[in-house]
Amino acid sequence: MKIRLGYRIATWGSIFALTFTATLLTNVLPESGPQPVKPAAGWVLPADAAIPAVLPADEPANPLTMLKPVLSTTGRAVVAAPRWPSARGQADGSSTGLFLPSGGALPVNARLNEPVAPPPAPPSLPARPAEKPAPKPLSERIVEYHLSAELDAQGKSIRGTSAFTWKNPGSVPVQELYFHLYPNAFESKKSTFMKESGGKLRQDASKEGSFGSMIVSSIKTLDGNEIELSDRIEYVQPDDGNKDDRTLIKVPLPKAVGPGERVTLRTDFSVKLPQVFARMGYAGDFVMAGQWFPKVAVYEPKGVRGRADEGWNLHQYHGNSEFYSDFGIFDVRLKVPSAYTVAATGFPTKPVADDGKTRTYTFYADDVHDFAWSASPHFVYFEEPYATPHLPGVRIKLYLDPKHERLKARYMTAAKKALARYSQWYGSYPYSTLSIVVPPADGNGAGGMEYPTLVTAWGAAEENPSLELERVVVHEIGHQFWYGMVASNEFEEAWLDEGFTSYAEDRIMEAEYGVRPNLLIESSYITNPAALKLHSWGYSGHNQYAENVYTRAKLVLKAMERQAGLETMDKILRTYFQRWKFKHPGTADFQRTVEDVTKTSWQDFFHQFIYNGMMVDYAVTGIKVRKATENGQPVYENSVQLRKLDGTYHNVPIRFRFADGSELDKTWDGVDSEVIMKLNHASPLAWVALDPQHSIVLENKRINSFMKTEVDTKLSVRWNMGIVKFLETLFGWVVW
Ligand SMILES: [Zn+2]
Repeated sequence: MKIRLGYRIATWGSIFALTFTATLLTNVLPESGPQPVKPAAGWVLPADAAIPAVLPADEPANPLTMLKPVLSTTGRAVVAAPRWPSARGQADGSSTGLFLPSGGALPVNARLNEPVAPPPAPPSLPARPAEKPAPKPLSERIVEYHLSAELDAQGKSIRGTSAFTWKNPGSVPVQELYFHLYPNAFESKKSTFMKESGGKLRQDASKEGSFGSMIVSSIKTLDGNEIELSDRIEYVQPDDGNKDDRTLIKVPLPKAVGPGERVTLRTDFSVKLPQVFARMGYAGDFVMAGQWFPKVAVYEPKGVRGRADEGWNLHQYHGNSEFYSDFGIFDVRLKVPSAYTVAATGFPTKPVADDGKTRTYTFYADDVHDFAWSASPHFVYFEEPYATPHLPGVRIKLYLDPKHERLKARYMTAAKKALARYSQWYGSYPYSTLSIVVPPADGNGAGGMEYPTLVTAWGAAEENPSLELERVVVHEIGHQFWYGMVASNEFEEAWLDEGFTSYAEDRIMEAEYGVRPNLLIESSYITNPAALKLHSWGYSGHNQYAENVYTRAKLVLKAMERQAGLETMDKILRTYFQRWKFKHPGTADFQRTVEDVTKTSWQDFFHQFIYNGMMVDYAVTGIKVRKATENGQPVYENSVQLRKLDGTYHNVPIRFRFADGSELDKTWDGVDSEVIMKLNHASPLAWVALDPQHSIVLENKRINSFMKTEVDTKLSVRWNMGIVKFLETLFGWVVW
């Protein structure tokens, strides 16, 4: 799923506003009198060191620069202003939608996400995508669903049957099956999903009085004797014991399923659709049917994701959690009113049958772990074949809300770029179809979501959307690789999907659309870091979930890329994808892949940043300058105290600037918790900046990365103005 930028910005914006207002109060307001000296005892500028105020006149007025007040040795706030990288002739975009002006050439709140004639997608080879079953299985094919369903467009409901076969992948007999009844998350305010989410997800809220549900009216064995099992169904709540949650059922079987054996059940079910909320439902006559059939849970054999004993992986539907299911075959028949067009996972196996009243669609998909569909009488349909040297051939299908019909080329180009690049970097997209659904504006709650071979873009609200149009397509297609094929457990290790997808998304947006992620500001948003390998409901709320599973996870991968090099990082991800596609790997499997590719231990890295919620925080905590004589010449003995306050990052760049304008760059190994660096120089130290080029992507508290040796009242004034400007920008974001 995609967290929409406006949402994140609004939320973070408020946090930011509070944080920096507090900073403003504590650091800037008490200027009327001398403040206590904050650095450690002894780290005081001696009175005889007459140091000129040094802040280069060429320092660009940059809002982020303004956000670095530090305590000088006199204890007063000054502006931290390490040299800002010069303008690169191209605007910085950002995956958070934030923009920092480079060189002050553009207004602070300018939106530079506007598409500026991006290069075309890689050209297509002559493409003849064959829509037929895979010649040989790509996955274990644990499940086989034959689903038949009819949409009651007036009644906003679906009635269906499922003939379902499950193969026991383990080594012991299995006595019961478990199914997810996800729509029951919306049956009352007492479900675990609604209690945890408060009826809100992203910017979307559950509509008052609009509920959704799933009823399983019959479930029968189809092996020899038909035995009705529906009276044996038991609702289970393994995560929280909430008896009002009916999103997971246990179905005891009359006969155990032996290892490698199969069981077939026939199920009759019906779904009441809610008004679109949390990925599914209806908006007017638009329908998004995600999680719309009883879906069997995953039975994990020993060793899968490090399991010591085999067994079911059982979780309810949670406010933060997405999904986890097993691979197999889906053969689906869907009946809708004649006016409707259906978009679905997989490809059609027959021409649409139309009896004047209803249309019947048939779809087939193999080696996928879910099946979703969407229907609307308004879809405008376009299709193009596409193939590249790394992509054997795919039909890209657009199901557009009419409002975005004229934007079809943008959707198509984004899809081609994403499929071409991901296939080139990680491995081929093996399916013959990729469908993109663009919901109507009021169906946006169904937007920004991934299903196997089908993704949804944002609802068609704007006439001229920013590059967010492309970004969401690129993101959801990224999921085809990490969610669709690698298929991590999104209940327990969502970062392996969202983090990887966000990382890959940034890479395409930069390579294909010239939008550089603003890692500096994104890392500064990490105010509530937590472990990445954590149950989705283990985070304190949706904000902490999103901050970690999306943003921090991406930054961790980016940090890994900085350390290993881009080429090696590509190799890591490619190896991981190739080794683990269709196999449900866990975090430890990823670590092993990283270590295999780099032939180095990443234990410390994983321990700090993945298994724990550490970030990086190096600080300048004191400067001491003493006049001395060396070989008869006057000299300044400059001592700088540096501290490590969080995780370890090797090779911390340091820039020393002297009062005479000269500069010296050094590197610190960053290992010890405290070091003192001594520099004898003809002039006193003016300031010290850690990581002046912002190469440490996990550094999230840059406020202490700079220290100046003397306060300058003029600069404090500038700082105040900076904050005002910054808050203006913030409020611009909040209303955006
Ligand atoms: Zn996502």
